[in-house]
Amino acid sequence: MDGEFQDETIVCQDCGKEFVFTAGEQAFYKEKGLQNKPKRCPECRQKRKQAKIARQEVGQTEQPASDKVEQPKREF
Ligand SMILES: [Zn+2]
Repeated sequence: MDGEFQDETIVCQDCGKEFVFTAGEQAFYKEKGLQNKPKRCPECRQKRKQAKIARQEVGQTEQPASDKVEQPKREF
């Protein structure tokens, strides 16, 4: 075994479409120490990523801006 990788076809868990986990990607995963193969096609991964970003943006707008508002000091 000389550690060569071969393209692998994986069925996406989200859309059921087949996608190729290329030898280059496998090498990249190994380099990163990732032991789990991707379960979703690049398209679905992208969608999930965008959905996550969208949720974060919504969360930011939902945050109350009250700590930015300075409360007026009342002195007698
Ligand atoms: Zn997919």
